[in-house]
Amino acid sequence: MIIMKFGGSSIADADRVRHAVDLVRASLSRQPVVVVSAHGKTTDYLLAAAHTARGGVIDISAVTDYHARLIADLGIAPTLCDDLFERLEGFVRGVSLIRELTPRTVDQILSFGEQCSTRIVAAHMQQQGMPGVAVNSFDIGLETDSRHGAATPLPGIDASLASHVRAVDGIPVVTGFLGKDASGSITTLGRSGSDFTASIIGAALQVEEVQIWTDVSGVMTCDPSVDPRARSLAQLSFEEASELAYYGAEVLHPSTLVPAIRKGIPVRVLNTMHPEDAGSIILPDSALTPAAAKSIVYKEDVCLITVASARLMSAVEILSKAFGVLSEGGIGVHMAATSEATVSLVTDRDYDEKTIAHALERLDSLGTVQVSRGQAIVCVIGEELKSRVRILEEIFSRLGEQGIKARMVSQSATEINIAVLIRNDEIATAVTSLHELILAAPA
Ligand code: ADP
Ligand code: ASP
Ligand code: MG
Repeated sequence: MIIMKFGGSSIADADRVRHAVDLVRASLSRQPVVVVSAHGKTTDYLLAAAHTARGGVIDISAVTDYHARLIADLGIAPTLCDDLFERLEGFVRGVSLIRELTPRTVDQILSFGEQCSTRIVAAHMQQQGMPGVAVNSFDIGLETDSRHGAATPLPGIDASLASHVRAVDGIPVVTGFLGKDASGSITTLGRSGSDFTASIIGAALQVEEVQIWTDVSGVMTCDPSVDPRARSLAQLSFEEASELAYYGAEVLHPSTLVPAIRKGIPVRVLNTMHPEDAGSIILPDSALTPAAAKSIVYKEDVCLITVASARLMSAVEILSKAFGVLSEGGIGVHMAATSEATVSLVTDRDYDEKTIAHALERLDSLGTVQVSRGQAIVCVIGEELKSRVRILEEIFSRLGEQGIKARMVSQSATEINIAVLIRNDEIATAVTSLHELILAAPA
């Protein structure tokens, strides 16, 4: 058995849906379980509709028009998703009436994207003589906690999930991104969460391989939209790929590797439009390349929070209290540095004013607090770093040549990543110049 996960861009129009289904047909002997994202930018449209409704306006036309066109172009039953659109409109109407949008309602509204795409892809399969069956992940035991917008699957769901998928009479086409909490509410696993769904289901079924079909030919030496010279990486280790996803490489949801590592399942990243390209395979062990590292990744819009103790509190004390405050406020931390009585923490993403202000108020009792927004982390990743004794010098010199000063640096004890804090407006220059470290080696 294999998992074949198709991202939004891989099924963005009728031709792409046909193409994706052809790829499934070519893999029938491997008993594929298909996982799909919402078509194209549907999730963005749904989110926009939810926010517009909070302002009192009901408008789901971007979603319905787009799907109507797809359905017409594929020549499938025009009413296929009508009941879903009706329910979606009901939720949006509710939001417009009470002018309130809770994270729970957002998840409910977003779920319509994947509910539609599974039906459409399965219907097209049937047209092509393949027994596609649309399956809602939230109906087959993909149970999560109740953290709407960033839910995590509950431990111990593998057996039930696997038996439900095995019981499907045909080729399962499962909703990515979605789960259900103990109270029965639909949850979402975070943006790009369908990658995570693919590996959750892959681990439950102990498949041979999880395939992530996307719009690039594998995991690359950097984001090709930042530096078009980016090259595909033939092989990465679980650890390297986890770091890469954690530090923001959009190609994989940050938690994708967790279930795969648990069961030792290879994850392959492939290009839907160029299936002949080898793509990347992610395996337990790394394969060293001649370059200084494997990939340069970045995360924009993080915040730097600095706490300077006013009353001789030790850095350890501040650190433990500050971590407590941030974790209670739901704020994640990506980097930390301490000096005698100062602690600097870098958040994992941007947070709204209210969340930050609330945390700052509580941190205030620890000392003088400062926040800088608009910061970015650029991170160099690869097992190769372990043997490069002068790597920090090389990184600083490349950045320095571009007039970029590292505001903070961290290297994990595993030595496979070095993260540097810069400003948002320095990302393109920093990534491109650090990328030279990789490009300098033969392909
Ligand atoms: P999908 O819709 O298939 O889930 P995504 O847009 O989520 O696709 O992820 C693919 C995109 O990730 C690519 O188009 C590319 O711009 C971006 N990306 C960022 N970093 C990397 C990287 N290191 N390797 C490959 N792609 C990357
Ligand atoms: N449709 C969701 C999103 O746009 C999940 C995914 O694409 O993986 O974030
Ligand atoms: Mg994605």
